[in-house]
Amino acid sequence: MSTEYADAPAPAPVAEDSGLVGEAVALARETQSWWAAIGFAGRRHLLDRWCRDLADNIDELAALVRAETGKPHGDAALEIGLAIEHLAWASKHAPSVLGRRRVGSTLLAFHVAATVEYLPYGVIGVIGPWNYPVFTPMGSIGYALAGGNAVVFKPSELTPRTGQWLVDSFERAVGRPVLLAVQGGPEVGDALCRSGVDKLGFTGSTGTAKKVMATCAKTLTPVLIEGGGKDALIVDEDGDVEAAAAAAVWGGMSNAGQTCIGVERVLAHTAVYDQVVAAIVREASTVRAGTDDEADLGPITLPKQVGIIQEQVIDATSGGARALVGDGQFPAGATGVGPDSELSDPARLIQPVVLVDTPSGALIQTQETFGPVITVDRVSDMDEAVAAVNSVSYGLGSAVFSRRNGPELARRIRSGMTSVNNVIGFAGLPELPFGGVGGSGFGRIHGADGLREFCYAKSVATQRFTPPVGVTNFERRARVDGIFRTAVTLLHGTRPWQR
Ligand code: NAD
Repeated sequence: MSTEYADAPAPAPVAEDSGLVGEAVALARETQSWWAAIGFAGRRHLLDRWCRDLADNIDELAALVRAETGKPHGDAALEIGLAIEHLAWASKHAPSVLGRRRVGSTLLAFHVAATVEYLPYGVIGVIGPWNYPVFTPMGSIGYALAGGNAVVFKPSELTPRTGQWLVDSFERAVGRPVLLAVQGGPEVGDALCRSGVDKLGFTGSTGTAKKVMATCAKTLTPVLIEGGGKDALIVDEDGDVEAAAAAAVWGGMSNAGQTCIGVERVLAHTAVYDQVVAAIVREASTVRAGTDDEADLGPITLPKQVGIIQEQVIDATSGGARALVGDGQFPAGATGVGPDSELSDPARLIQPVVLVDTPSGALIQTQETFGPVITVDRVSDMDEAVAAVNSVSYGLGSAVFSRRNGPELARRIRSGMTSVNNVIGFAGLPELPFGGVGGSGFGRIHGADGLREFCYAKSVATQRFTPPVGVTNFERRARVDGIFRTAVTLLHGTRPWQR
């Protein structure tokens, strides 16, 4: 067994005193004025410098991500590369998306010239998860910074060094503390929610999201919620079976299944179901979890998740589900994995599991599994598939394999994002908004929506000349009211030929 994780750096000190959070927010507020004042061009120059620092040091950061999460080095480098792509897009497009522009007037307000622009909230609090400790928080951090905000970032307590590395890299590139880190667990996240930040971007489980929202409600602090998911991949009768199976296995097993937009359920048309199952079994049988450099999957990063995955699989198999890959047996000691277990603990290595005949009502049908487990179900047609996908409370990502009806099926699925004839494709395109509906949250990172998420719309109406008929005064009398009513009726009322 590799001893690599034994060399993982010790966790950063935890901020027991929530006063440290207040200090960070105050410092961020000071530097935010400078950051906003240098404008889009000044920020782009510095953010591009940050991109270069990240890209030049990608292997160092990937090694740190591997040390803290256990994921393969290549997977860590992939998420960092995508995060850099997003940062570059955000800094380049912030002026055109957020900058001031004229908007049209109307016949009734022809004396007014109007503009809209998107101004930074001020200081954004970002609370991140551990599963993609660079890509996920950077979806909020990069877009918030490009919009002119300062950011106070609380990384997951499982990935504090990765979070600090990002902040140090920013400092190297920019030279001022516009991005700061506060370290710790739930209590520090809670303190950040209460700290007076102007908006809070949260990514994590749906259960924690509810707590975050309740806390932020007390101060009417707006929140962005990127919650959990239970993503499905559906295969139509005309879908490419081999491509769908490969996508299902990579989408479901990569990062040991610890992906918010990972595939957890496959629904295949009865005409191709047997072929889909056979292809998935073949693909999944070649995937191996381990701690060595050749392993496809690393360990389960969050110790308590081992028990949750195991509980869901046992619940399904005891109700009649069959494990066609992975025997549904977990490593010795899996039930006893405690919070102090090391990443190198063999009990945290879960080999891929493919389940069929899962009984309806099983936990695994509706709850996020967050492990390398996929269920494959037969459906008689795509109406049944769409209904099954839409029956869960989550609505984050999804995938459709169909030669003829992909886009149409995609639009019927209640999820924020859908890939057609590929998997997770939407995450790598900076122009596409990323986020969910229902139990998966609300608000968007990435794309123009992601830039606007961290700014507020500022509307300005400037009077160009005094209108012949003014309505915003107390001198207005029946004559003016009459003219106004006539104008509204002429513009919007039923025309004689419409009667
Ligand atoms: P988690 O909810 O346990 O923790 C997320 C963050 O919230 C951590 O930094 C944690 O310290 C903090 N936190 C915990 N309690 C808090 C509280 N009361 N107040 C404020 N902050 C608090 O989630 P996790 O285990 O770190 O991450 C996995 C979850 O994240 C999965 O459900 C996954 O689907 C989800 N996720 C979603 C996305 C997305 O974009 N939608 C991306 C990645 C992960």
